[in-house]
Amino acid sequence: MNPNRYDAIIIGAGHNGLVAAAYLAKRGRKVLVLERRGIVGGSVVTETFEDGSPYDPVWTGGMLRPDIVKDLRLASHGLQPDPVRKPFISLQADSHHLVLDADPLKAAEAIKPFSEKDASRWGEFVRFMNKAAYILDVAYDTLMPRLPKDFSLREGYGLLELGLELRLAGRKDMLNFIRALPMTAQELSEEYFESEIVKAAVASLAIHTHTLGPMEAGSGYTLIHNWLNRGGLSHVNVGKAGGITQALANAVKSFGGEIRTEAEVERIQVDTYTCKGVVLKNGEEIFADTVISAVDPKRTFLDLVGAPNLPPEFVWKVQSIKMRGSVAKVHLLTDGNHGIPEGTLVVAPSIKYLEKAYDAAKYGEISEKPYLEVTTSGNVVSIHFQFAPYKLKNGEWKVESGNIYKLAIAALSDYFPNLQSRITNYHVITPLDLETTYALTEGDLNHGQLMLDQFLFMRPIPGWSNHKTPIDNLYLCGSGVHGGGGVSGAAGRNVVKVLK
Ligand SMILES: Cc1cc2nc3c(=O)[nH]c(=O)nc-3n(C[C@H](O)[C@H](O)[C@H](O)COP(=O)(O)OP(=O)(O)OC[C@H]3O[C@@H](n4cnc5c(N)ncnc54)[C@H](O)[C@@H]3O)c2cc1C
Repeated sequence: MNPNRYDAIIIGAGHNGLVAAAYLAKRGRKVLVLERRGIVGGSVVTETFEDGSPYDPVWTGGMLRPDIVKDLRLASHGLQPDPVRKPFISLQADSHHLVLDADPLKAAEAIKPFSEKDASRWGEFVRFMNKAAYILDVAYDTLMPRLPKDFSLREGYGLLELGLELRLAGRKDMLNFIRALPMTAQELSEEYFESEIVKAAVASLAIHTHTLGPMEAGSGYTLIHNWLNRGGLSHVNVGKAGGITQALANAVKSFGGEIRTEAEVERIQVDTYTCKGVVLKNGEEIFADTVISAVDPKRTFLDLVGAPNLPPEFVWKVQSIKMRGSVAKVHLLTDGNHGIPEGTLVVAPSIKYLEKAYDAAKYGEISEKPYLEVTTSGNVVSIHFQFAPYKLKNGEWKVESGNIYKLAIAALSDYFPNLQSRITNYHVITPLDLETTYALTEGDLNHGQLMLDQFLFMRPIPGWSNHKTPIDNLYLCGSGVHGGGGVSGAAGRNVVKVLK
């Protein structure tokens, strides 16, 4: 038996690649995961400052689907249970911050000083969001038919089940869910609330990781998507990214799978529309019956497969996938006395403020008044900075990273004036760093924007939404396919349903 031949090769050890590998290895397949970096995890990693202080450089927080945790026995592979959820805090200049606890009754009490009416509506809003997130979760779990291509009854069966699930949600929730998707986050929050501070707090969730403002159509969808990914308003598992993907890697190995790091795939081997294996950067050839790419679709097809191996119309559609990274990260190492409470803190004073922050990205500029999301883990303060577009109209990212640091500190100093004096070191990650270090094309966090025209059977492109590709034996399973975006693992698990 050729030792360099596998049943399945998975390209990329992000969480989706690891989930796919673990399921296949559990089925008894001979599986090899190839990762270009020296560590596994993709965007879900924990790294360290020079003094050894750990921090999560990329991903802020979230959770894997509970069924994946159970199927892969991740608790026995080191996965810690999701910790108690910390509050979501909208920072206010007068220090009377809006502190929204996960308990809707406590959150309603906190809303009362801002608006009695909004406090009375909070419970209903949370109920609707939980229901909407549940429906979206079912949709992400459903294999999409390849509309408008090759639609067969077998492929359409999942859609039937999804339709039934929608119907079971009840007429009112079903209609409100469908209505909410194309709405703006502003409109959706205005249906429930009158206080600008409450509306902006809710709307800020819609724009996290997306190049969208709260006044853009489709931000209703991203609001529900992010609520689903977080399981509510605030993040869980902050500072624990590496533990999640390490548990997945342990599961892969325990089921007999192999993982190789510092093993960059240079080329996917294709012979007349059939995939044969991969070639690594060092020239090594590895063969497999099935190759699954957890790398984003643009990089997979345009760089690894190569346009000459693909139908021209398909290439054109892949080139048209919207990748619009506009997030930078700033991590502050402090002396420990940063004075920032635990939780998910946002600088989102009004919907107009958020929309203006986004306006800058539309014109290729770094937002001077950014939307910030702040989390802490020990003595490290992590700042998620929006908007900082990958494609700058003027300037270059190599020069602009210091600017990001200054703007983030200036915006936070309004709320924590002593913070700057507590910083001992810092690390900025620009959209260009997301591309070069983390292999995210154009710094796009979700391997392609989550927009209504890149959603359901249109993700990654219409006609190719069920993990298959025009190349026989080559499949996709990263965030750029349906089910992906965020760290649920749905895309990695769903590909296994397609494979015999
Ligand atoms: C700044 C930022 C913040 C985010 N915040 C959140 C959040 O708060 N909540 C949330 O749910 N989601 C968040 N996301 C999105 C989420 O992290 C991603 O959608 C998800 O982690 C992608 O996982 P993946 O496994 O599909 O791909 P990735 O994690 O991107 O993994 C792909 C892997 O493939 C490897 N690779 C690439 N090319 C090759 C090659 N040629 N050969 C071998 N290996 C290769 C890469 O090195 C990488 O390890 C965030 C993302 C970013 C960037």
